[in-house]
Amino acid sequence: MVKNSLNLRLALESGRPLLIDTAMGTSLLQHGMSSGSIAEEYNLEFPHIIEEIHRLNVEAGADIICTNTFGANKYKLAEKNLQVARVIDEAIKIARQASGGRVWVALDIGPIGTMLKPYGDLEIEEARDVFAEQVQIGCHSDVDLIIIETMFDLEELSIAAEQAKLHGHGRPVFCSVTIQNKDRTLMGNSINEIATRLIDLEVDAFGINCGFGPAQMKDLVSTLLAANQGRIRSLMQPNAGLPKINADQQIIYDMPPSEYCKIMQEIFTNGVTILGGCCGTTPEYLKQLRQMVPRES
Ligand SMILES: [Zn+2]
Repeated sequence: MVKNSLNLRLALESGRPLLIDTAMGTSLLQHGMSSGSIAEEYNLEFPHIIEEIHRLNVEAGADIICTNTFGANKYKLAEKNLQVARVIDEAIKIARQASGGRVWVALDIGPIGTMLKPYGDLEIEEARDVFAEQVQIGCHSDVDLIIIETMFDLEELSIAAEQAKLHGHGRPVFCSVTIQNKDRTLMGNSINEIATRLIDLEVDAFGINCGFGPAQMKDLVSTLLAANQGRIRSLMQPNAGLPKINADQQIIYDMPPSEYCKIMQEIFTNGVTILGGCCGTTPEYLKQLRQMVPRES
């Protein structure tokens, strides 16, 4: 069956487990992306690399792949003189090509990169316009769902989720935040407070990505499940362990896939059934995750 937003909604309602692809950034670094480049440029300059990364994730057993559009907003792209519509259209075309209709394609949206007032210069209306533009372009090019991830400010996340619901034409919306310490984001928002807001906004899934490795995330499973009250699906996408600094002063994540998946197995058994990987994870991690999470057609 060709994947679309309607059968994704059925899958969500059935409670079936879903695997999201692994980190695009990590795979791009492995493919030699230099520090001066931005990942979104690759959609235009090296589409075959992006397609190959998607394809490896599809082959590893992803149910959902995310477009390479994390920072595809007008502020971040302006630094490289790139147009939002061109970057997002291309990214979706590449992901669709790699998906072959076998997996769902998610429009990936990350933080704008500028803080809302009073912490930064960004007005609420400006943030609204940024997210509305991304969602409208994404849905025009026809993605199956929208994933808003690595957020740390509940206000910004709420604006993004509202726009995704408003312009998403019924497509499922997943939201995910990065937890900084204990159960709070950098801005001090608790998991419970965020879930309450997102349930009101009628998003389809809420969870945690990045920041922590699987061991730290496992400790948050019961908090997340309680916060989501069984009303929306729960998701977790940890990094490959906690960050380390290597001899070249670069940040690395080096928990081996087998160790990673052992803890993911516990997270899954404890009730978080939408899983994926963030920084440091590659299709190899996904392949092992797939072995423990049953696949349903
Ligand atoms: Zn990450």
